[in-house]
Amino acid sequence: MATPIESRVDLAALPKEERLARMRHSAAHVLAEAMLELFPDAELGIGPPIDTGFYYDFRLPRSLTPEDLAWLENRMRESVARKLPFQMASISRDEALERWKNQPFKLDLLRDLEDGAITQCTHGSFTDLCKGGHVNHTGEIGAFKLTSVAGAYWRGSEKNPQLQRVYGALFETEEELDEYQRQLEEARRRDHRRIGKELKIFELFDETGPGHVVWLPNGATIRRELQRWMEDLELDRGYRHVVTPNVSKRQLYVKSGHWDHFHDAMYPVMEREGEEYVLRPMNCPSHIMVFASELHSYREFPIRIAEFGNMHRWEKSGQVTGMSRVRIMTLNDAHIFCTGPEMVEAEVEGVLQLMEHAYGVLGLQNYRYRLSLGDPDDKEKYVDNPEMWEKGEALLRRVLDRLGLDYFPAKGEAAFYGPKIDVQFMTAQGKEETLATIQVDFHFPRQFGLEYIGEDGSRRQPIIVHRGIISTMERMVALLIEEYEGNFPLWLAPTQAVVIPIADRHHAYARDVAAALRAHRLRVEVDDRNERMNAKIRDAQLMKVPYMLIVGDREAEARAVSLRVRGEGDHGSVPLGAVVERLRSERDGRVLG
Ligand code: ATP
Ligand code: ZN
Ligand code: ZN
Repeated sequence: MATPIESRVDLAALPKEERLARMRHSAAHVLAEAMLELFPDAELGIGPPIDTGFYYDFRLPRSLTPEDLAWLENRMRESVARKLPFQMASISRDEALERWKNQPFKLDLLRDLEDGAITQCTHGSFTDLCKGGHVNHTGEIGAFKLTSVAGAYWRGSEKNPQLQRVYGALFETEEELDEYQRQLEEARRRDHRRIGKELKIFELFDETGPGHVVWLPNGATIRRELQRWMEDLELDRGYRHVVTPNVSKRQLYVKSGHWDHFHDAMYPVMEREGEEYVLRPMNCPSHIMVFASELHSYREFPIRIAEFGNMHRWEKSGQVTGMSRVRIMTLNDAHIFCTGPEMVEAEVEGVLQLMEHAYGVLGLQNYRYRLSLGDPDDKEKYVDNPEMWEKGEALLRRVLDRLGLDYFPAKGEAAFYGPKIDVQFMTAQGKEETLATIQVDFHFPRQFGLEYIGEDGSRRQPIIVHRGIISTMERMVALLIEEYEGNFPLWLAPTQAVVIPIADRHHAYARDVAAALRAHRLRVEVDDRNERMNAKIRDAQLMKVPYMLIVGDREAEARAVSLRVRGEGDHGSVPLGAVVERLRSERDGRVLG
């Protein structure tokens, strides 16, 4: 006999999170009820709430179609309209075994449950094995939509049968559901993986391996422009660029502490001629070698060493994503060696100014500052030296406070060697990612016994500021693709202009036009394919080329072009000289498109 359990809840009195969790889980019950009508032999898995809705896993006689989802959703709405109460009850193990004797996954779940702790939930004619957490009746489940079906293994293990997981989105109101769907659509539209492929920016091949990005010519162009620009900004600010090796002896990373604290994220050791080598996961030790290559006097400080340095990190498979989280990456890296805390503060401030300037040019606004702190209890992840952590944290706080920047602290987000200021950017995918990072480090100088000659002639230990401004090339370009939706500003656009001859007899003039632009290092192509003009215009639009210069008889005669501007349309006939000038000044002014 099932013994009813009183489970009425005052939904309005619950925190929103819990109320939503109940609505979402209840909706999963209603979905399972509908599924049993569609497939009476469906085998039921589990149906928990998730961040944006719910899912339920099923083993079914065939794959679900979009029509099935529509049918199920309608059937669910009928159940909602009937306001069926959810009734919890406690049942004995024997009753449970009898009730779900044809449901192998339920039997599997029952194996983990003690007699006396088994409960079920009934609404209408459907009963599920369930530990609770519902709304009062089906009329209270809120605004929902079945969104997708994906494969999922029972209990998440590949050794178990594969099930079909039906996902639903669920929010309290229709407005919230609409807003969520709008965001989802926007994220899909901006997804850098899709746009990156369409615009031939990058590829990921099975043969090269996950997280190992292949930059195609268009992507390499964007990257080169970013790098040249940033290197010039750095040169203006007293940085000196170096080039250091991707591979070093393992011992270097034992000395730095990477081997102890960062080992899991490193590629495995390579052995040759009795030596062990590793791919570097960070550039710091390489730059420390540069610093230590001569004995410096206090007069030379600050010493700013920069490199677009490659790093190799064995990021977990589940986390590797497109170009935004990869395994081989190039960081806009620099290490600033300072004599003391005042110099560190001044340099951190300078780095923040450079960052704000750079992000201003790129049009990035959606960021906030995170003070990333260590965790004194986590001795495995962080160097154990409480005094050092306190000094670093105080230093960074002083700079942030002096500049009046809003920031939020985050425990357990520091580098293993010291605290950092991370610039957190909200992406089009609705995820927060670190772009720029600024770190204070008392650890490496001590590990490597770094010294300089102080004002009084004595040997002193420097402090290192680690910094990346435009993050890794991979993450930044992923983000820019999403920010711009592929409409790169002129200075970054892989192809800045396409010349489109109307007929074959205009090819010669088209090449003249291209040459006039190329003389100013503008990236221009002539579309001399044997295609109709409209097809050429459409293709250039699909590739999001900023300028189209169409040339026919009249244009050739007047040394002009018929100008089409991305996002603006037709500008009519414009003299060639004026077009060259327009593109040149727009590029050099780095105006956002
Ligand atoms: P995260 O917390 O994102 O893993 P981290 O704290 O390990 O980064 P750092 O060692 O400070 O990062 O690396 C410098 C910068 O390089 C980060 O701020 C981030 O912008 C970028 N970055 C780090 N890991 C990756 C990656 N796997 N793919 C692309 N960019 C990355
Ligand atoms: Zn339930
Ligand atoms: Zn570093």
